[in-house]
Amino acid sequence: MTKIAVLPGDGIGPEITEAALMVLDKAKEVFGLEIETQKGLFGGCAYETYGTPFPEETWQLVQESNAVLLGAVGGPQWDNLPRNLRPESALLGIRKKLGLYCNIRPVKFYSILADKVVWKPEILEGVDLVILRELTGGAYFGKKGREGDSAYDTMEYNREEIERIVRDAFEMAQGRKKVLHSIDKANVLETSGLWREIVIEMSKDYPEVRLEHLYVDNAAIQLVINPKQFDVIVTENLFGDILSDQAAAIAGSLGMLPSASLGGEINLYEPAHGSAPDIAGQDKANPLATILSLAMLLRHTCKHEQAAQAVEKAVEQVLEEGYATGDIAGANSKRVGTKEMAKLVSECVSG
Ligand code: NAD
Repeated sequence: MTKIAVLPGDGIGPEITEAALMVLDKAKEVFGLEIETQKGLFGGCAYETYGTPFPEETWQLVQESNAVLLGAVGGPQWDNLPRNLRPESALLGIRKKLGLYCNIRPVKFYSILADKVVWKPEILEGVDLVILRELTGGAYFGKKGREGDSAYDTMEYNREEIERIVRDAFEMAQGRKKVLHSIDKANVLETSGLWREIVIEMSKDYPEVRLEHLYVDNAAIQLVINPKQFDVIVTENLFGDILSDQAAAIAGSLGMLPSASLGGEINLYEPAHGSAPDIAGQDKANPLATILSLAMLLRHTCKHEQAAQAVEKAVEQVLEEGYATGDIAGANSKRVGTKEMAKLVSECVSG
């Protein structure tokens, strides 16, 4: 039995997680999956009830689970709270407590959304890549400070931090197209020098995987002019933050971008977007990023590749049939709301 803690959060969070749960019900039925879900309060809604965005009750629930499916948190009504009580602080808290060091962001181009992207469609046709971003080290977590008119952030990495994510990346590349791009700035940064040395050492354990090194500035250009060359990309925290947002533009909408954060025994799955307070409660939110995050949960936590692919194929089928929420709708789309989109996708999930 797999237990999932579902933390809907704020804004559109409850609508998009409900949509994902509808698809999960269908996947359970089709594949005979033994999965149990339980909801918990997290973010602004938890602050309203418990006076804290990440209450002990929710942490307890998470610890008793095998995975977390998160909606999104935050909203203007909590923006003036002290930093440690703001909903977004709960996100940092849960990632830290669960030791999530590897953020995975798949980016896929759906040709039906071609008019939503600024690229020429022929450059994007067939793009289906995954970025693995190191999440707990580097400049965001190193020593930082200010002295008068000077400021500094220290970028630090050790062997263990690099090895664990690079191993995940090689494993993923091995199971996909057997191509791995490691992004660094080894011509300038010491941390990148160590990163590259370790990647080269570890590549000997994966002789079938073709390894390419790119400097981050070149990677930024290559992602624009020839994104098709990439399949699995691995990089450190700061570079990954920027490159994954850059690559996100390929998908045409924030509502299309799932993510997984892996680390310890309990992994976290969530859409890449926020709580979209401007459209909350109006049945307008695109639930596909959350549904695709659920597919990642089926793949990485339940180890059920067939179910994961069935959900991904269902999403593709519904898009190809021309259904779209407002954020991805074009002139010829059949416009649907959050609930209808979830129903359409669940109907298409088949074994
Ligand atoms: P946002 O991602 O919530 O929204 C940006 C724009 O994209 C908005 O116009 C929104 O309507 C649209 N959008 C986002 N997701 C969509 C979806 N699924 N379907 C259709 N349209 C969608 O970012 P923001 O406006 O900068 O932040 C709003 C709140 O969310 C803030 O409180 C912020 O702190 C929080 N936030 C939370 C997370 C998270 O929970 N992981 C991440 C980012 C921002």
